[in-house]
Amino acid sequence: MREDVKQLLALQKTDQRIQALEAELVRIPKLQEAAKERLANDIAALATAKSNNQAKEVEIKNVELDIGTRKNSIDRLKIQQFETKKNEEYTKLGQEVIRYEAQVDDLETRELELMEVADGLRAKIAEADASLAKTQGFVDEEIAELATRATERKAELAEAKATREANVTDLNDEDLLDSYLRLFNKREGQAIVKVTTERSCTSCHVQVTPATYALAQSGSAIANCDNCGAIVFP
Ligand SMILES: [Zn+2]
Repeated sequence: MREDVKQLLALQKTDQRIQALEAELVRIPKLQEAAKERLANDIAALATAKSNNQAKEVEIKNVELDIGTRKNSIDRLKIQQFETKKNEEYTKLGQEVIRYEAQVDDLETRELELMEVADGLRAKIAEADASLAKTQGFVDEEIAELATRATERKAELAEAKATREANVTDLNDEDLLDSYLRLFNKREGQAIVKVTTERSCTSCHVQVTPATYALAQSGSAIANCDNCGAIVFP
């Protein structure tokens, strides 16, 4: 194999590594954002549990106000009853008292039912809180792992870039480097590829001409695929 082909292969390997590391470094912050988004469901569930409970507390408060109003009415009616001298009115006021007392009973029963529901809703808040804390723990862990990974990849990237400089120095051919770079970008990292014994270019998978294949085999000059231009070696 030609020396410059060997050096180009080494350079391409380094460039592929750099490309993969850079892509991963772009991906990591996105993964961290996605991890944070996993909290959204738990946060929403907690907010719903809190607002359901709050609505129930308001309902209870209203029932208590209704009970208070009726108890006041009962007190007022009892005073009126005490003050009246008419039998008929006394009886009528007494009936009113009974009617209000029955309402108070119903309202107190309703209040107890609501309080039971509110207890259940408070338990749901506690559950949602615990679930959020648990998810938060996983998310924090994942974000920290991703941060460690990013630090490692950055170090690897710096190393790969140093290797690349050495590869370029070894190649020591600016024209060939230029044509390699154009091909590397155009052929998505497949600038220099093997040509199979069936003369197939492994970058574009089209057959090269027998002349190109012969050139690649002889190694007397750099051979390029007739279809995609990739540098081919046997
Ligand atoms: Zn090709």
